Amino acid sequence: MAALGRKNSTTTTTAAAAAITTVLFDLDNTLIETRKGDSLACRKLSEELTQEYGVPQELSSKVTTGYLKQFRKCPDNPKYSLDAWRISLWSKALGESYSYLNKAVYERWLELRYHYLALTGDTVSMLLQLRKKYLIGLITNGPSNAQWEKIQKLSLNQYFDLILVSGDLPWEKPDPRIFEEACQCLKVTPAECIMVGDKLETDIQGGIEAGLGGTVWIPTTEKPRLCAGDPKPDVTIKHATDIYSVLNRGPGAPELEDSSSNASDGS
Ligand SMILES: [Mg+2]
Repeated sequence: MAALGRKNSTTTTTAAAAAITTVLFDLDNTLIETRKGDSLACRKLSEELTQEYGVPQELSSKVTTGYLKQFRKCPDNPKYSLDAWRISLWSKALGESYSYLNKAVYERWLELRYHYLALTGDTVSMLLQLRKKYLIGLITNGPSNAQWEKIQKLSLNQYFDLILVSGDLPWEKPDPRIFEEACQCLKVTPAECIMVGDKLETDIQGGIEAGLGGTVWIPTTEKPRLCAGDPKPDVTIKHATDIYSVLNRGPGAPELEDSSSNASDGS
């Protein structure tokens, strides 16, 4: 059963559980819908390419889909600046006839991308509320420049007591040392922390290996299934905003669900 407890509370679910003082979040597809947002930005851009530049509809769709595929495969190339790398990806995707549009398309894509990746009002409220009682950390895997661009453009600094980007460090999730680094920086013990994330193999596995007080999984599919051998999260929730109610269950509240018992419906 999950060892999640409330700060300064005597209502922890197990007698030995340390009070939770710290919530560590993953970024992509946990606090922001990176995959969905990037797809929506490209869909919108595809429409605009046709409407504003006269690119045939089928080609527009092919161009933006092609760009997104290459971008996801390699979001950052250390040999180039972020801008230069993405402009070169757009040039290739646009092909000879339209590569002259590369800079304009890149700039519009960047605007659309951050429009669709913005934190929702509910997520902002949850983070602000949570921070009244807990320390909040962000641990994100990925290249330094690409991840810090998201952090800056989405103004995420203001919500967190600590932000760790794996590209700046010798380790990435699930390596327990990145969680230990977070604990050291925040001056807390692993048992006081919970990790919230969408990836079993990094967020949940890493949280377990680091000996955190609990792990919370936010599956990205409607009907997630835990397979034999998968790391077992303590709790499964649908949206990051549900974390506040999980942590703030009052005295007499039902015990936290064991996600392994109802993995098939993902509730
Ligand atoms: Mg993620």
